[in-house]
Amino acid sequence: MLRLDDVRVALSKDRVVPFLQPIHNIKTGELYGVEILARIIDAGENVISPDLFITELEKSKLIIPFTLTLMRKVMEMMKQIQIQWKCPFYVFFNIPANMLSDPALVMGGRYFLRNTHKEIKPVFEVTERIKISTHPEDVRIIKSLSADGIPLWLDDFCTGHSNLDSLKTGLFSGIKIPGELVKNNSVKNLIDNIHLSLNETGRQLHISLIAEGIETLNQLNYIKREGIDLAQGYFLCSPLCGSDFSDYIKKFY
Ligand code: C2E
Ligand code: CA
Repeated sequence: MLRLDDVRVALSKDRVVPFLQPIHNIKTGELYGVEILARIIDAGENVISPDLFITELEKSKLIIPFTLTLMRKVMEMMKQIQIQWKCPFYVFFNIPANMLSDPALVMGGRYFLRNTHKEIKPVFEVTERIKISTHPEDVRIIKSLSADGIPLWLDDFCTGHSNLDSLKTGLFSGIKIPGELVKNNSVKNLIDNIHLSLNETGRQLHISLIAEGIETLNQLNYIKREGIDLAQGYFLCSPLCGSDFSDYIKKFY
């Protein structure tokens, strides 16, 4: 495990880097976007996965400069990519629920939106390891994000605090379905419950779905049969460093 001080040092030494995992539209064959996954490069040039630092980091305010650093680096990467952006390309950042209304993060999201190509759209995917704030001022700020063009998605649906009650808040445009639910063949059940729950609250929201953790062709075919068009996972593509991603995306343009 890394200590918070190690993360602080990594930030000061410019050793926090974004990896990008493609999200595919399996119906059209287009690239829908990417999820940004943080990595720390240690002094021996080893790539350290977030499992070794993210839980502690998310409890600390250090997650704010950490996330802003990732946003800045992704912005720089996107500017370097030599393609003609021709349809919306969604960039999903992981944001802990309790930090969503932080003014610096909100400003960071808006800055990203204004300073990248108009087809590049930031999305905040909310990890509810810590519950989302229901304080009216926080809810007002969170709602303003979506209104400004930064949609919120629920990450790791049905884990942590993330469940149908979170969906009923009306704050979210989409849901990321964890790989475990795909492996258990529980996707149909989940979709039925989502529809039921939205009907109950009288909302006619359109909720988009991404199935994560797709590792096999069978799993891909299964989610297709269940009507899910957006997918992410090792079977499609692993998280890539910036230069590999820049090569990868060119195949789609
Ligand atoms: P997550 O949000 O659930 O992200 C998906 C994790 O599954 C990533 O692990 C990804 O590399 C991995 N993955 C992708 N495809 C597959 C697959 O087909 N099978 C399996 N078994 N795993 C797959 P990673 O990169 O180690 O990240 C772990 C967690 O750390 C993430 O889980 C996310 O909650 C958190 N995290 C990563 N980057 C950030 C960040 O910048 N900020 C915050 N707050 N959390 C982050
Ligand atoms: Ca995620």
